[in-house]
Amino acid sequence: MPAHICTTCGCQYPDTEAPPGGCLICQDTRQYVNPAGQAWTTQTAMRKTYFNAFRDLEPGLMGIGTFPAFAIGQRALVLRSPAGNILWDCISLLDDATITILNALGGLAGIACSHPHFLASVVDWSHAFGSVPVYLHAMDCNFVTRPDPVLTFWQGDRLELTEGVNLIRCGGHFPGSSVLHWAQGSDGQGALLTGDSLQVRPDKGLTFMHSYPNLIPLDPLTVRGIADALAEWPFDTIYGGWWERVIPSGAKQVLADSVTQYIDAVTGSGAGA
Ligand SMILES: [Zn+2]
Ligand SMILES: [Zn+2]
Repeated sequence: MPAHICTTCGCQYPDTEAPPGGCLICQDTRQYVNPAGQAWTTQTAMRKTYFNAFRDLEPGLMGIGTFPAFAIGQRALVLRSPAGNILWDCISLLDDATITILNALGGLAGIACSHPHFLASVVDWSHAFGSVPVYLHAMDCNFVTRPDPVLTFWQGDRLELTEGVNLIRCGGHFPGSSVLHWAQGSDGQGALLTGDSLQVRPDKGLTFMHSYPNLIPLDPLTVRGIADALAEWPFDTIYGGWWERVIPSGAKQVLADSVTQYIDAVTGSGAGA
C-alpha cells in the first residue's frame, strides 16, 4: 500500500490504500489547504520527476534538497559528527541515489527535526538507515502525520545528542520548535541549524512567525523567549531551512538586532520609521 504524501506541505501519512481525508498540517492555521483541492503523491510517483542534490556547506555539514522544488521546498542537513551522521530536518523524497550516497558516508546515526512541518517523509528515512531514532519535541507530538516507533519525543529545554551537538527548544513557531547547536561548526565558533524556528530573511536578518505563508506574527514575549533560550549558546553562523537562507557570520548580533527590530515593530515602540 502507498504512504501518501501531501503535495502542499510534503508530510507523509501511514500506508493506506485510499489517501487520508485531509492533511492535519495543512488544515492548521500555520499552513493552508491547496486552493485547487487537497492533492497527494507517493515516493514512487515522486521518483519519476524529482531528484535530490547535495552541496557541502562547510567541513562536516552538507545540504540535501529536492529538485525541482517540492512542497515547502526546505533542504535537509547532514551533520557529520564523530558519533555518526545526524540528519537535521527532513525532505519528502528519498530515492536510491540518496540512500547509496549516505551509506557511503557512513549512514545515519539519528535524525532530529526542528518542528512538524519538516518531518516530511522522516519515517521512510529512518527505516532506510536501520530505524534510527527521530527526535521531535514532545510538545509537538499532536502534529505527527505518520506515527511510528522511531519517533522519539524529547522533553525539557535541551537534549544533548552527542558531545557538542545539542537540541534547544526555543518555541515560537510551534510550542516545541527547536534548533540544533553545533559547537564545532563555523570553525569552532559555533553554528545554529534553525529550520524555521528562526527564519533567515532574504536580507539576512531573522524573523519569528506563527505562520510564514499566512503572515501571522508572534507576540513580543514569545519572541523574547526565543532570544533568551539561545542567550548562553555561542554561535557565528545560522543555517536556516533553505539553501540560500544562511547567515554566514555575525549571527549572534543579527539575532539580537532582529529581536529588537521585531519587538519595536509589533509593539509600535522604538525609533521605527
Ligand atoms: Zn499538507
Ligand atoms: Zn514551519
